[in-house]
Amino acid sequence: MFEVKDVDLAGRIGILSSRGKRIETPAFMPVVDPIRQELPLEQIRNAGFDQIITNAYLILKRFGERAVEEGIHRILGFNGMIMTDSGAYQVLEYGSIDVSQEEILHYQIAIGSNIGVILDHPTGDVGLEEARRSVEITLNRAKEAEDLISGTNLIWVLPIQGGRHFDLVEYSAMKSKHFKSYGMYGIGSPTVFLERYMYDVVLEIIYRAKKHLPPGKPVHLFGAGHPLILPFAVALGVDTFDSASYILYARDGRYMTEYGVYRIEDLEYLPCNCPVCSRYSASEFRDMPREERTRLLALHNLYTINRVIRRIKQSIREGRLWELLEEVSKRHPQAYSSFQKILNYNDYIERFTPRVKGIVKGLRVYNIESLYNPKISRFRFKLLRLKPPPPSIYEGKASFYPLTRNTECSRSDREFTVYYVPYIGIIPSPLCGVYPSTQFDYPHTVPSNIIEDLASNIRSYISLLRSTGFTDINIYYVENIEWSARIARLLRDQMGINIISLKVLG
Ligand code: ZN
Repeated sequence: MFEVKDVDLAGRIGILSSRGKRIETPAFMPVVDPIRQELPLEQIRNAGFDQIITNAYLILKRFGERAVEEGIHRILGFNGMIMTDSGAYQVLEYGSIDVSQEEILHYQIAIGSNIGVILDHPTGDVGLEEARRSVEITLNRAKEAEDLISGTNLIWVLPIQGGRHFDLVEYSAMKSKHFKSYGMYGIGSPTVFLERYMYDVVLEIIYRAKKHLPPGKPVHLFGAGHPLILPFAVALGVDTFDSASYILYARDGRYMTEYGVYRIEDLEYLPCNCPVCSRYSASEFRDMPREERTRLLALHNLYTINRVIRRIKQSIREGRLWELLEEVSKRHPQAYSSFQKILNYNDYIERFTPRVKGIVKGLRVYNIESLYNPKISRFRFKLLRLKPPPPSIYEGKASFYPLTRNTECSRSDREFTVYYVPYIGIIPSPLCGVYPSTQFDYPHTVPSNIIEDLASNIRSYISLLRSTGFTDINIYYVENIEWSARIARLLRDQMGINIISLKVLG
């Protein structure tokens, strides 16, 4: 069962429930190794994770029938939601495993998994023919599994394969949505690209899959555990993640932050207040026995991931996920590329961005990229389509006023009033007060490209007004508000518009 509680961009907060367990998404599932788990599950739970993922094939190898008798929750000592992967990853690593799909599906049902995965065939980073084969094998397995899983009460995940062959990803998603027994989809095998920081490839895979998948169903991204990719993946509509990165990084002495990953030797100060970092200093970390260091670093890494997830959720609540992406994009060159990639998906994201939200916070804009925020681009698009009134009502008179922090946006009977403001563009008075025309915050210093953008907006609107018969067009400006004075002079020089200075407004 999946219930969406709140939405922003294509991201959502949801409730996922299965076999008596419930989690709120977006959620991160730490990978638990049933054979060698260095961080106790109790500590994982204390770090804020009510959900884990483990491997059913390895559980079978390690515990066999005992896991059926006692149940996976008891045998692992974890009372939250447990997702089990089928062993497909082992296929990727070792070529094959010695159980059939039927056996591993029955086993997942019998041990009490909350979320199960079919035995798919991960694509990895391979050529087209091999990728096509992995897609076909996975689709065949999905079909074959339907008889075995229909009527069972856990959520089944159908992984979408295709890797960097994006047309195959689309094909895989289009075929997959016709199977009826799956409550969830997975984006398969992005790990090879994530390891090489090829976030753009991963985001493209998500976008190509999500385009075709039914929006009401949750989507899992396999193997994504780097803090910088999470906000972008959520913005495209990913609901759950899993990764072993927290422990793999820790073994390697790597310390996660929201800004990127550091080697612990390179840190003199710890930029974190989690229970681990509150207790130990960077130099104490370096002097620790290796096992203890690994365990504590893993725990810190989990706290960091949890913090990132909570930040994402709060941004969705406030309707400020776009602003979060803008902020994250400044943290690391790879995050910046991810953001550039997201700009390409504006139409897709715009489709999901809600028009009305429970909590409406003012928008925050920073620079030219803010214009792609769907809440702004949608409003600007609306403006372009708004026909001016017949000029005869106003005897052909139209006036442009700067919308400043002290301006009341209002209509007049004597002239057609149009407001202008950086980032938003122009606001004809009939649209005064329409979100977000007056509920947004921008820096006092307005960059030149934004002024140029505003001037071009006004120019087009003046041309439109002139073509419909407006003859007396004026631009008002405020001398001590620099952007308005620059706009007025630009338009006087370019279009011969009459400009009028207003009293200082502050
Ligand atoms: Zn910490």
